[in-house]
Amino acid sequence: MPDAANHLPFFYGSISRTEAEEHLKLGGMLDGLFLLRQCLRSLGGYVLSVVFNLRIYHYPIERQLNGTYAISGGKSHCGPEELCEYYSKDPDGLCCNLRKPYNRPCGLEPRPGIFDNLRDNMVREYVRQNWKLEGDALEQAIISQAPQVEKLIATTAHERMPWFHGTISREEAERKLYLGSQPDGKFLMREKESGTYALSLIYGKTVYHYRIDQDKSGKYSIPEGTKFDTLWQLVEYLKIRPDGMIHFLKEICPNPSVPAGSAAPVPPSLPRARQAADGDGYTPEPIRGEKSHILPMDTSVYESPYSDPEELKDRKLFLKRDLLMIDEVELGAGNFGCVKKGSYKLKKKQIDVAIKILKNDSEKNMKAEMMKEAKIMHQLDNPYIVRMIGVCEAESLMLVMEMATGGPLNKFLASKKDQISVCNVSELMHQVAMGMKYLEDKNFVHRDLAARNVLLVNQHYAKISDFGLSKALATDDNYYKARTAGKWPLKWYAPECINYRKFSSKSDVWSYGITMWEAFSYGQKPYKKMKGPEVLTFIEQQKRMECPADCPEEMYRLMRDCWTYKWEDRPGFKDVELQIRAYYYSIADKQENGAEMLTDGASKN
Ligand code: ADP
Ligand code: MG
Repeated sequence: MPDAANHLPFFYGSISRTEAEEHLKLGGMLDGLFLLRQCLRSLGGYVLSVVFNLRIYHYPIERQLNGTYAISGGKSHCGPEELCEYYSKDPDGLCCNLRKPYNRPCGLEPRPGIFDNLRDNMVREYVRQNWKLEGDALEQAIISQAPQVEKLIATTAHERMPWFHGTISREEAERKLYLGSQPDGKFLMREKESGTYALSLIYGKTVYHYRIDQDKSGKYSIPEGTKFDTLWQLVEYLKIRPDGMIHFLKEICPNPSVPAGSAAPVPPSLPRARQAADGDGYTPEPIRGEKSHILPMDTSVYESPYSDPEELKDRKLFLKRDLLMIDEVELGAGNFGCVKKGSYKLKKKQIDVAIKILKNDSEKNMKAEMMKEAKIMHQLDNPYIVRMIGVCEAESLMLVMEMATGGPLNKFLASKKDQISVCNVSELMHQVAMGMKYLEDKNFVHRDLAARNVLLVNQHYAKISDFGLSKALATDDNYYKARTAGKWPLKWYAPECINYRKFSSKSDVWSYGITMWEAFSYGQKPYKKMKGPEVLTFIEQQKRMECPADCPEEMYRLMRDCWTYKWEDRPGFKDVELQIRAYYYSIADKQENGAEMLTDGASKN
């Protein structure tokens, strides 16, 4: 999870007080010169170092329970950036106002803190082990679910640490510590009967015991000590400084039942919901009884069924009709025909599928269109894109796809407006951005990105669908030129599409902006009463849709960026994904216990 201040040019990361002072001295020691650094003492906190009268003052900034930031006794701000902005206008108790940031010299990146590295490693190991993912699937899981995985780790990771001995008595702890050599700082952690924890530590051949307190918000500390979100972070910190204990933690007294010697601690494992996902409806188990929602990786559609080499071996574009069961249930309809629910028998398991069935009386070119769509989908494999299982030619031509039970995003949001938070919408739109970034990387243009074509697997898992208009670009082309204008979703199209019939990932970015607008307005229709051609005039007059009610300013700013008139100046999906990711992480992190992200009922729809 990137630090909330990483983007600030005057943020130095985890540097010491002395290093901060050296920087400011180099900067000339003018009144009001300042920099920001990570605080080693409070997790998620910062220190503001400011020059005044040739002296340097250091103000700790605490991250508070509700996720806001404040200098002790001062006003709260929603982020470190806002806080610095505030103090640049008003000293409000500081030695002077912040006048000039001392920016990092060119090429110097913020230094990662010890917890940043540890945390990143833990998230990676956790995802790898619990969901048995590798390669791209692993990377995507980490990026899309970091906030949720961090929360899981926060509460359970200590259980697999070699220094954690579970529920043992004080006497048992002493016996273990006195066994063998007794260097100062040899330690272990134990759980007490009451469900609280204690640290036991040797110093001068004597064992000392420290109770670990947990405050109302769940943060851990030794009495009077620094507070941490997790027990493992507390231990890592106490390895660096004693924080009031008689000695810092040094040597682990290992628990023989925990594998030792892992630099990245081995996290505990989850019961995997996916294993119960065979057949039709699966009922994912709640993770360790915790309030958490089902993650994309817990569903049966995160990875392709063909990621199993045995299934891949027999993969063919054309499926056998007798392996395909078609239900009467209709999921949707269109020009081409209808989409029905069904199931398909693979070698090892049966999967739920959605089947796009071509009307039998359709013209020849519709058949060709559907085959084009199939050939595009055949080349794509990403957790945030509806995958094609294959095509089946029988009573009619059929496109067999992964099933996305939740239906189109616009309908879903319109019907569940009260239950879906802005954070949830951002989570889904971040997933769409990840899927689109994948398409951009592979040089495909979608050409019909809209909320109606984003399908939900569940409330927290979106996939891009409908590749009916999509094109694969030649390697050295960056746009597709349509020969004639067709039946086009004009309201979703960038000006160059309408004016010059030029389609690129940049024009998909424009559509992504419209899709964002639809999502943050909970399924409203863009440009309300206007007709398609009127929209172009509106755009040419430099006008844009307004910010939907309750849409966060950051998200509206991103939409506006997507609606940059000239495609050359418009951001690409690489950029868009990073921006929405940063915003999503920042609010997912702030949500106390993720309260409303935890409704897990959606997967049942
Ligand atoms: P069209 O080209 O007519 O827009 P779509 O591919 O968007 O066709 O599918 C039409 C509708 O069928 C969707 O809006 C959705 O309700 C349903 N549908 C399509 N694909 C799936 C799927 N993979 N899972 C569940 N429903 C689907
Ligand atoms: Mg569609």
